[in-house]
Amino acid sequence: MIESQARISSAREVADELRRRSCFVMVSHVKPDGDTLGAGFALGLALKRLGKRVLYFAEDAIPRNLRFLPEAQYASRQLPSDLPADTLFVFCDMSDWRRAGDGLPALTRENMLDIDHHLGNALFGKFNFVLETECSTGSVVMHLLRELGVPLDASIATCILTTIMTDTGGFMHSNTTADALDLSAQLIRLGADKEKITEEVFLRKRVAATKLLGRIIDEMTLKHGGSYCYSYVDDAMLAQTGADGEDTEDFVNVLLGQEGVNVAALFKAIDGELRVSLRSNGGVNVQAAAARLGGGGHFRASGLTFKGTLPNAFESVEQALIAEGL
Ligand code: AMP
Ligand code: MN
Ligand code: MN
Repeated sequence: MIESQARISSAREVADELRRRSCFVMVSHVKPDGDTLGAGFALGLALKRLGKRVLYFAEDAIPRNLRFLPEAQYASRQLPSDLPADTLFVFCDMSDWRRAGDGLPALTRENMLDIDHHLGNALFGKFNFVLETECSTGSVVMHLLRELGVPLDASIATCILTTIMTDTGGFMHSNTTADALDLSAQLIRLGADKEKITEEVFLRKRVAATKLLGRIIDEMTLKHGGSYCYSYVDDAMLAQTGADGEDTEDFVNVLLGQEGVNVAALFKAIDGELRVSLRSNGGVNVQAAAARLGGGGHFRASGLTFKGTLPNAFESVEQALIAEGL
């Protein structure tokens, strides 16, 4: 019997555990993105090749622009009732298991594996394979695929390349390291469909989404000598433009891209929930700012869910950013 351990596990330890188990549930975080899904699908495909039973749990619907991913059609909020006792729940791309939502059955640490690259991961699993220097959780999964020795095919490669392209913003963010580019080249040689990812994830925009971006830009506020830019989106703006929450994903980066802006925030008051996306160009640690309000993420990209009104959120987030050096 191997002890549960709140420390970073080795690829070998995790691979041995994966070989021991017969059934897996790959768990993505709420409002799933290309990293949480691509990482889970890639590992799920590899485990299927080893003859394992694999299911995919996603609390929220798969966004339109990620439905092209292999395995996406199998993701579900419902799990079958006949899961064996040795089922391992594999949490990808979340620093806390609660980011998976409310739909999972009650779990103990013994049945949780934590695979991630966020700062401040809670190390909540029996094994915790957390590599903070990796650009995506998919590139963390790559270490496991190599350890397992599973042949990599074009489907697995497309899943992993999607994780890298999503989390590097199409090879633009500062986490686009030489290693990230090397791995991407290897994946393209294995048949990863870069054109498809570019088209689906980055290029094709709904007209309603572009109209919504216009409204968000209309509502933009600049403070702190123009170094802090924030805006918001609410249900009324969605109704006016015909857009929905999925269409808001990248827009915080437009705010950060304005000349002179070092920190950006987009407040999304949608369906009775208030989510905030924070971005920094490197001077202010927005992970630390988000953590002050119960959220998390990375140094330059973080998020949180706020309990309260929009004006209160504007104030609290600004104060948290000031405390981190804005
Ligand atoms: P987003 O702005 O939603 O793209 O999220 C940016 C980063 O912050 C991602 O790495 C998320 O995993 C993380 N993040 C977003 N919301 C939360 C939250 N409520 N709690 C912890 N981390 C979050
Ligand atoms: Mn994510
Ligand atoms: Mn990620």
